[in-house]
Amino acid sequence: MRLLLVEDHVPLADELMAALGRLGYAVDWVADGRDALYQGTVEPYDLVILDLGLPGVPGLEVLRQWRADSLSVPVLVLTARGTWSERIEGLKAGADDYLGKPFHPEELQLRIQALLRRAHGMPNQPQLQAAGLLLDEARQCVIREGVHITLTCAEFRLLRYFMLHSGQLLSKNHLAEHLYDGENERDSNVIEVHVNRLRGKLGKTVIETRRGQGYRFAGVGT
Ligand code: CA
Repeated sequence: MRLLLVEDHVPLADELMAALGRLGYAVDWVADGRDALYQGTVEPYDLVILDLGLPGVPGLEVLRQWRADSLSVPVLVLTARGTWSERIEGLKAGADDYLGKPFHPEELQLRIQALLRRAHGMPNQPQLQAAGLLLDEARQCVIREGVHITLTCAEFRLLRYFMLHSGQLLSKNHLAEHLYDGENERDSNVIEVHVNRLRGKLGKTVIETRRGQGYRFAGVGT
């Protein structure tokens, strides 16, 4: 999953970039509202973490303009502690959730996971489940019929994306765009390697190849 972090406080942004990276998210960071406006509309983010007090264009205005442009990406707003007015304004402007500063990293992690499940039609699941698999996002492993199967970081990132997009046809380029940040070189052939490793661990039929089109996780018959 690829996230956009909009935060002008550099120490906090550094801390969040590191924490989100450890959680297996690809993250692009901008510190200015004008950059956020542009970046949010040109790149296919899966979620945005948006600070409200920003130079350039205020966070609320960024959010209003994105929503006016029909950008439906889930947005988690970061607000100053105890300012109920900011929270209300954020929600009115189209935020999907908010978090008051300072916050515990685990709370951010759980809210991101919940927002992503909700955005992909799984609002009632406490954990990500698909095709008989349960993804343990804290341990970055997958459980099938009570058996833990270990995953490398790259396999975990890919499987999480597949599990959130079950049954959908996903091209290698699409997967590369959502698994790597803007700084990373995207080699879509690497995706093929990781798909094959996941098949080795989870069984051949779990990911179907459509020649020339891409992959489908948990398609018909699985
Ligand atoms: Ca700020």
